[in-house]
Amino acid sequence: MSLFDSFVMVDWSGGNDTGPRPRKDAIWACVVRDGTVQTVDYLRNRVVAEEWLRSLIGTELSAGRRLMLGFDFPFGYPSGFAKAITGTHDPLALWDWFEDQIEDSPTANNRFDLAGQINSGFGGKGPFWMNGLRRDIAGLPRTKQDYHNPFPDRRAVEHLAKGSFTCWQMAGTGAVGGQVMMGLPVLNRLRHAFGGKIAIWPFQPLDKPVAVVEIWPSLNLGAAPPDRIKDAWQVEQVALTLSRMTDQELDRQLNVSASEEGWILGVAQDKPNISPPPLRNDCFALPAGVNWTPVDDALALLQDRLRPVTGAEVVPLAQSMGRVLAEDVVAQRSNPPQPNTAVDGYGFAGPAAEGAQVMPLTEGRAAAGIPFDGTVPSGHALRILTGAALPEGVDTVILEEDVTVRDGHIAFHGPLKLGANTRRAGEDVSAGEVALTAGRKLTSADMALLSAVGISEVPVRKPLRVAVLSTGDELVEPGDTAGIGQIFDANRPMLLSLIDRMGFVPVDLGRVADDRETLKARLDEASKQADVILTSGGASAGDEDHVSALLREAGAMQEWRIALKPGRPLALGMWSGTPVFGLPGNPVAAKVCTLIFARPALCQMSGQGWAEPQGFEVPAAFEKRKKPGRREYLRARIRKGRVEVFHSEGSGRISGLSWAEGLVEIEDGARHIQPGDLVRFIPYGSFGL
Ligand code: AMP
Ligand code: MG
Repeated sequence: MSLFDSFVMVDWSGGNDTGPRPRKDAIWACVVRDGTVQTVDYLRNRVVAEEWLRSLIGTELSAGRRLMLGFDFPFGYPSGFAKAITGTHDPLALWDWFEDQIEDSPTANNRFDLAGQINSGFGGKGPFWMNGLRRDIAGLPRTKQDYHNPFPDRRAVEHLAKGSFTCWQMAGTGAVGGQVMMGLPVLNRLRHAFGGKIAIWPFQPLDKPVAVVEIWPSLNLGAAPPDRIKDAWQVEQVALTLSRMTDQELDRQLNVSASEEGWILGVAQDKPNISPPPLRNDCFALPAGVNWTPVDDALALLQDRLRPVTGAEVVPLAQSMGRVLAEDVVAQRSNPPQPNTAVDGYGFAGPAAEGAQVMPLTEGRAAAGIPFDGTVPSGHALRILTGAALPEGVDTVILEEDVTVRDGHIAFHGPLKLGANTRRAGEDVSAGEVALTAGRKLTSADMALLSAVGISEVPVRKPLRVAVLSTGDELVEPGDTAGIGQIFDANRPMLLSLIDRMGFVPVDLGRVADDRETLKARLDEASKQADVILTSGGASAGDEDHVSALLREAGAMQEWRIALKPGRPLALGMWSGTPVFGLPGNPVAAKVCTLIFARPALCQMSGQGWAEPQGFEVPAAFEKRKKPGRREYLRARIRKGRVEVFHSEGSGRISGLSWAEGLVEIEDGARHIQPGDLVRFIPYGSFGL
């Protein structure tokens, strides 16, 4: 026995009667039974629709059939709203409340007034916005200027449903605010009329013959065939899709917990907190028999083995700078949202013909943010200022410098092309388009882009936490007294700041002496606090090289002998599921290995994808002979268009790191570089520093 016998999808509408002839943006419903479409009905208003639903439910119940009834509007509001209105978090209490408040008839309803009234109770600047009527309504802003929402802008599920609208927006193409208000009272009456037989998903257990669920029909559907009304085609497609799902699949999709805000059927629930599985213990294994691994092979191996390890969260736009997008972000609004003028001048219906043009001026003007509320008659012109939305009757603008104004007329010389000096709606980005893709590390330019396309909350990955630990008996803390044979720990401050500059969260694990037990305890601690551990020192195979020894003991260490200068072997391993990068102790080698190996790996684990540093070819200001067999990185900087290298290649020379502004990379083969020859220079900036 399957879960349901009949599947019905309803496309709702918050507007008035749509007339006798079937048309789009009206109420549509499709019934599917036994895998075939029974009916597709056009329901011209909500009185008709409510009657239709009542009779449908009655018929299904008396025939002993189980019915899944889907609607395309939110069943709940963002968290906190129900409680603020009704005193309880129960969304169905809000349904009762709306049924009391809403007055509805085929020709008029009070949804905008009610939105204004609710807003007034919260200070008059939100949560609802956009008055779709000509008359002003106290408390209901026409635009989002000066808007303040005391509640979240979206429900949790809407962060996962690309292109969804919020229930706070009351008017405008695609807005669902009105549909919710005009839909909940109808569903509420049905719920009470068939009490005991209807369950509202996901607020009530689905142990009744009728399940009323929220579904968003345009989700995952392509474009409608040209000969079909989109709404009619969509309800049919969704009802058919539901009817073809296996019970296991349907059961899985219905199994959500969202007791206050509700959910949209079909939106996977496990996405908001992607906590990826840990990396495998053998993820750093090297192919057997390899002696010295070339740099490119080592990098390819890391790229292949590592995956993102961070979960996701949603943060306000203002806190999203530098964070990594957890998923694609879809523009909620076009940029520009309306066609507007690119210059100060006079607007009219173009094009203008060759020769002298004289046009009477229409009274009034259009300015940015202050639209002209009327139609400019054909043959007339209107004063219009940069950024103003083009009013009805205007599609072309003449620059004010090219115009003479006298006696209520303008005169200028044609021709002027249709659309001259205007910007098309969406010419930059259109609503519904992917504005930025998953993995993007957000920049200040992105702050502008996201704001312009109406994104105020951003799905990002949790920041990657990178622990830094120094090892060595000889190390003392800068500021302490250093005895004979002791040196100050230079690597840790350098590595912590590198991690910070690369946009990860540094976790300072301090220093440990070359003592296995202490090191072990510290690594245990680190694996709890961080996603990745960087150690420096003790990474080779010598007597005091405890990092590599410990990891080897734990059975999860690989000594990567990479054909690279500077840099001795890199110890890569897993400690209690946390990857460890054992960097060489020499500060120069530690930095080079961090930039060349650790950075792209960390970027990959943080969800940004593998990061190749951008280098470029610059004439050398030096001479150098290099033997084949390993890649070399030299501390370098550009002066007068040529790249200079530090006078010593000694890997203990920390001053050379400060002197340099980047690295010269010399390929694995032999090379004799003469002054003026092109060499590859990678500025520190290319490593995100
Ligand atoms: P190791 O890899 O432990 O054999 O160390 C190689 C060289 O780097 C030795 O000369 C160490 O003294 C030096 N060294 C190791 N760790 C640090 C550090 N944190 N700061 C400065 N030098 C270090
Ligand atoms: Mg050491």
